[in-house]
Amino acid sequence: MILQHVSESCFAVLNEKNRVCDANSGLINRGGGVVVDTQADLPHARRMIELFGRVWPGMPKRVVNTHEDGDHVWGNQLFEGAEIIGHRTAAERMRHVADPTELQKLLDAADRFLPRCALRAVHPGALAIARQLKEDYDLEGVRLVLPTTLFDERHTLDLDGTEVHLIFVGPCHQAGDTIVHVPGEGVVFAGDVIFRQCTPNGWTGTYERWFETLDLIISLDPEVIVPGHGPVCGIEGAMEMRAYLEYVREESERCFELGLTSLEASKRIDLGPYAEWRAPARLYANVERAYRELRHEPADAPWDMAKSFDAIYAVARARGIEVEF
Ligand SMILES: [Zn+2]
Repeated sequence: MILQHVSESCFAVLNEKNRVCDANSGLINRGGGVVVDTQADLPHARRMIELFGRVWPGMPKRVVNTHEDGDHVWGNQLFEGAEIIGHRTAAERMRHVADPTELQKLLDAADRFLPRCALRAVHPGALAIARQLKEDYDLEGVRLVLPTTLFDERHTLDLDGTEVHLIFVGPCHQAGDTIVHVPGEGVVFAGDVIFRQCTPNGWTGTYERWFETLDLIISLDPEVIVPGHGPVCGIEGAMEMRAYLEYVREESERCFELGLTSLEASKRIDLGPYAEWRAPARLYANVERAYRELRHEPADAPWDMAKSFDAIYAVARARGIEVEF
């Protein structure tokens, strides 16, 4: 984990491994201090607090959760007394998608012989992701702490004269997607609307909304973008993300018309330059999402996560690449 100074008042903490749950966090060190996203477990959150402590004395008074996924909110509990801000939908959604006990059950099953054998037989992908998460994370003691301030479209903070705009852009990657714009310093904290040098995956949302959001970020003309995952970038990060999503949607459409399933399509689509991005088999989630749209299913149709991990696992195996999430 490293600390990067990105503008006069803005900093990023980056998880360089860039696998699933390796989310970035941000800090604006003015007006009481604002942290953007709080990491996926308590050891990572404590390390982030320590790094931000080098450039901001004391605990920040505000936290922004860019969306409802656990890797962005599971450190919330360490910010006792802070105002935690998120989109109107985020609190309710977190109860479902960021319930740490659900994931803990999977990790426990991977530890015990009989449940592990059962998992391997029925859900090899779920077992593989459990093993990977256990290498990287420790969910011990994680308790879900929900946002205390909810907003609808926009929320503005005045940090001793530095304006910060929270802009709701969901649903593209998730229902509650929010970007944090610091216009005076040309910085956007993009949350998981942008993944950099690692394969994105969208859950609840639409391709159209995601394209609109990336166009919005480009129109804000930031000098620096802190993506939700991966290294800090400029506007090219938004453009490459758009190109990837356009490519996957087009290829998915072609495969859909040929009558292939989303899994078959994910095994066949040429990854081109995106083969270099971390965890390329996560392509499956994006293909399946395109298929959902082609089948006219609602953007918030639930996912069977175990089956999705199995599909990502199957795609990696079929392509002869490392099984990685
Ligand atoms: Zn994330």
